[in-house]
Amino acid sequence: MNEGKNFIETIIDNHLADGRFSAVITRFPPEPNGYLHIGHAKSICLNFRLAEKYGGRCNLRFDDTNPCKEDQEFVDAIMADVRWLGFDWQERLYYASDYFDQIYQCAERLIEKGLAYVCDLSAEEIRRYRGTLTEPGKDSPYRNRAIEENLRLFRQMRDGAFADGSRVLRARIDMASPNLNLRDPVLYRIVRATHHRTGDRWCIYPMYDYAHPISDAIEGITHSVCTLEFEDHRPLYEWILQSLEWPNPPQQIEFARLNLTRTIMSKRYLRYLVEERIVDGWDDPRMPTLSGIRRRGVRPAAIRAFCEEIGVAKANSVVDIGQFEHFVREDLSQDSQRVMVVLDPVRLIIDNWPEDKFEELVVENHPQRPEMGSRKLLFGRELFIERGDFMSNPPPGYNRLTPNQEVRLRGAYIISFKSAEYDGQGNITAIRCNYDPATKSGTGCKKKVRGVIHWVEVSSAVPVEVAEFSPLLDDNFDARTDDIAAGINRNSRTIYPDCRAEQSLAGASVDKRYQFLRHGYYCLDSQAGAQGRLRFNCVVGLKDSWSR
Ligand code: ATP
Ligand code: MG
Repeated sequence: MNEGKNFIETIIDNHLADGRFSAVITRFPPEPNGYLHIGHAKSICLNFRLAEKYGGRCNLRFDDTNPCKEDQEFVDAIMADVRWLGFDWQERLYYASDYFDQIYQCAERLIEKGLAYVCDLSAEEIRRYRGTLTEPGKDSPYRNRAIEENLRLFRQMRDGAFADGSRVLRARIDMASPNLNLRDPVLYRIVRATHHRTGDRWCIYPMYDYAHPISDAIEGITHSVCTLEFEDHRPLYEWILQSLEWPNPPQQIEFARLNLTRTIMSKRYLRYLVEERIVDGWDDPRMPTLSGIRRRGVRPAAIRAFCEEIGVAKANSVVDIGQFEHFVREDLSQDSQRVMVVLDPVRLIIDNWPEDKFEELVVENHPQRPEMGSRKLLFGRELFIERGDFMSNPPPGYNRLTPNQEVRLRGAYIISFKSAEYDGQGNITAIRCNYDPATKSGTGCKKKVRGVIHWVEVSSAVPVEVAEFSPLLDDNFDARTDDIAAGINRNSRTIYPDCRAEQSLAGASVDKRYQFLRHGYYCLDSQAGAQGRLRFNCVVGLKDSWSR
């Protein structure tokens, strides 16, 4: 019956069957204090897909209860990212700050029921009174204030009568509870900060744990899906809605957050990378932010397929970054146009090719998809090949050009080495060779060689920049114990400043993907390279380390 369903769907099925809920309404609740990352994508896919599967709805709600760190810039970026991922909240765009009045009224109700009190202890004292996992907490001396006094003080808090941090409103639950979240948690604090939406209207702000269940309930959320760290907060979530006698309250369900090897998935550390200028910004192609991943060239379908595949679990684990790359590659292999680009060029001169002769070769755009057509490549006497595709003194197993080994120029002819020219430092400046006119590709030539290399004709070549990336964290970084600063991979980006691309790439566009033959999948960077040169980002290499 439940085959192919995840544990959240099983819970929902039961709720629908026993009549607790008759529809499925979920929400994605980002706090606008940073950019979304690939971990958030998991939550977005999960919430929107659940709604879709059950014919329900998914809201986008900004959890903007902490004015100190939040900003409109993040609101805008988050909306753009969710849309880019392919999800639509339609007219259901909400903000917790839209509910500030209701959330405030709820607090007065709790006070009236004797379930909340104004506490004058300092933050430090509150911490000390809270106790530990092994010791019960101690009641605040303000815990038994009269309801009237609490109401009066709370209203004065709201009206700006007290200094920031001098008083808080706390739930009156149980200072001896084994669950620390139930030891009279803070519901409201005094902060004179300008909110990006409500401005200076409020000088008290509700805490996340208090505002969240009320926001969910106001929107009629049925299933409030969150990450595992909130499991211990669930009793508080339920206490708040029960105390407010909310009819048909939502069910909080926790799942394991997405962790990826060698990937920073904490907003705090991502901000650190940006502020320390270890990366160029939130959308640096190395960042695991959705804006970085997008600029890198990954398409949303790959992220959705990946999130679907990894599924949801009740226990934390770490997914190999190679598995993500596998989905990126799968997506790109379908329709990326094949092109030839030489990253580290060295000149190859074909001595037996006439100086002013050029030939147009026709090559396919995709080997498995003839409908993607073909393009013309200019072939002539002078070409660029990769410096690494020739060795005068090769190790065993080297199957590219050597003094004794012929290679095929992709889509063209077989060549044999004649001589090499060197500069004063012993670097090769040119390689001279001969071609065999009887070996043209596509003419039924029977001659076999061990290697096929790519090339670009000199007079038609387009100078471009190419950026290659490796993870921002060292291979052996352990997020649980290591200091982030010590784990940063300082060689996460390699720029090839002087590459040569075939002519077709002069018209490259940001929305197209290319397979640079023998290199990987690439995409034009949305911000051009140095001196107006086109910059291509390596989206992912060709080798699949995961399906192995
Ligand atoms: P913080 O709360 O520390 O600022 P956060 O990453 O939890 O950071 P939110 O904006 O609160 O940021 O997250 C929005 C939603 O995304 C939450 O419901 C959260 O549970 C979910 N989420 C965040 N990180 C992950 C992750 N790595 N995997 C899955 N879901 C995540
Ligand atoms: Mg959060």
